[in-house]
Amino acid sequence: MNILIVEDEPLVADFLDRGLRAEGHATAIAATAEDGRARSLEGGFDVIILDVMLPDGDGIALCALLRGAGLTTPIIMLTARDDVADRVDGLRHGADDYLVKPYAFDELVARIDAITRRRRPDEPEPRRYAYRDIVFDRDAMAVTRGGAAIALTAKEFGILDLLMSRPGSVVSREHILSSVWNIEVDPLTNIVDVYIGRLRHKLESHGPRVIETVRGFGYRLC
Ligand code: CA
Repeated sequence: MNILIVEDEPLVADFLDRGLRAEGHATAIAATAEDGRARSLEGGFDVIILDVMLPDGDGIALCALLRGAGLTTPIIMLTARDDVADRVDGLRHGADDYLVKPYAFDELVARIDAITRRRRPDEPEPRRYAYRDIVFDRDAMAVTRGGAAIALTAKEFGILDLLMSRPGSVVSREHILSSVWNIEVDPLTNIVDVYIGRLRHKLESHGPRVIETVRGFGYRLC
């Protein structure tokens, strides 16, 4: 999908941008309300992610302006203020959904999926996955490979959960940081690589290589 990110905070915009691109989306960033207005009205976006606090205006007013101009593109508002009035305001002015900062990156991805109906929200998440000779059981917090039990830490389990739930698809470092560490800005450390290394070591003592690095994007099961 083609996603416009209207966000003035460079670190947040960059994190969203890289994460969404790694999920397979095309992205554009607008750092001001004016740029956001111009790009939105040019059209061609499937979703607009709109920050409420912008240096030259507020996102709620921009949302109202875009709807007034006849734009029907789904809009997800991001608000730093955990203020119910704000959110009701945003929705009343034509936003389709909102997220309160700090939000988890995977929650944003889920909202995008829901809004664009790629995934039915009533579909229950599977509790148990199998990929090649690896069996992953969420309820029992247990992982086996070729029948042999593999002891994982909670973080390793969380990473494998992300990979196993979408085999073959790339899971971005941003998605892992957000989902497993609750970090929304890249800490500029190799923490994810370190944990992937440990996970590989444990899985590969029972079989061939299964986690592939996709340079510049993330990881996937191969
Ligand atoms: Ca902002």
